[in-house]
Amino acid sequence: MTYTKTLKLRIKDKHAKTLLAMAREVNLVWNYCNEISHRAIRERRQWLSGFDLQKYTNGLSKCDGILIGSPTVQQVCEDYAKARKQFKRSRLNWRVSNPQSSKYSLSWVPFKARAIQYRNGQIQFAGFKFGLWDSYGLSQYALRAGSFSEDSRGRWYLNICVQVDSQPSGGTAAVGIDLGLKTAATTSDGQVLVGRQYRALEQKLGIAQRAGKTARVRAIHAKIKNQRKDAQHKFSTALVERCAAIFVGDVASSNLVKTKMAKSTLDAGWSQFKTMLEQKCQRAGVVFEVVDERYTTQTCSCCGSISASSPKGRAGLRIREWTCVDCGTAHDRDINAARNILAAGHRRLVVGIPALGAGRMSSLRGARLGC
Ligand SMILES: [Zn+2]
Repeated sequence: MTYTKTLKLRIKDKHAKTLLAMAREVNLVWNYCNEISHRAIRERRQWLSGFDLQKYTNGLSKCDGILIGSPTVQQVCEDYAKARKQFKRSRLNWRVSNPQSSKYSLSWVPFKARAIQYRNGQIQFAGFKFGLWDSYGLSQYALRAGSFSEDSRGRWYLNICVQVDSQPSGGTAAVGIDLGLKTAATTSDGQVLVGRQYRALEQKLGIAQRAGKTARVRAIHAKIKNQRKDAQHKFSTALVERCAAIFVGDVASSNLVKTKMAKSTLDAGWSQFKTMLEQKCQRAGVVFEVVDERYTTQTCSCCGSISASSPKGRAGLRIREWTCVDCGTAHDRDINAARNILAAGHRRLVVGIPALGAGRMSSLRGARLGC
């Protein structure tokens, strides 16, 4: 089985000027499409498709001084039509090329698979060769369509779709995961994903914000984002490698965002992590289930009672460790919750997911809670 994924590679800075010039042309095509399309709707009630728009832009790539080739012009037309449909509007925002404008659109240059080639650390596109840091070993992949894009720091990236073979996980463990504020994720066997990079860089961010250093603020924000994503990738990959089943609580971050805990909640990036984990599980054939996490914090994972000593409500948020008065087991708050999530997951599996093979099922049943 194969699936496609998008790789993001950093382009060397010296190419920024050429790419910016290309991006201005892309914006020109986009804005032209916007104009033509809107006029057709207004005057003739006609919604031009990507193919229709291509007819209007035919020949543009042959004009003097135009860098982007016809495949990219076509791609912009298609993307424009797609975006107009997606946002259900007769007219989209103009793409602004002037970096001084507050409405500046971060630069973007799409391409079709046939328009690019990769050789010796360079991507060839429209007669140019762009050097990049090949962190993935691009030569081993069949390259498909993608884009060049600029981030808020003015750095350029190659975003490219590649086809990858899925590799089934040989893991046998079953793990429950509690998503939290103090730690972003805690597994039922005690592994922890720390999710508070924002706090570590918060001071620096504050100083930069008060000093009005926009570039620095952007750099710190980007750094936080990268660090978080990187940590999530490592954590989820390791989990998928050693597991046959993973269960996550159905925490609704939208509820918490409204409260004072917003910063921590956003910081933890739950939904990003969940999505990442789910995708990796699918590719590796690992069972992934979201289970009801009500009472998972309050219930003792050993004896199953909700004892008087367990953490409850908002006051209970501060309780990190507690001892069940009914059975005497000492608990780490998050690990206990993760164990309850795992147990809920097991119950769910026993009720039945028919797709599970018999061998797999028994190995799952065999993986017991360590109490
Ligand atoms: Zn107990």
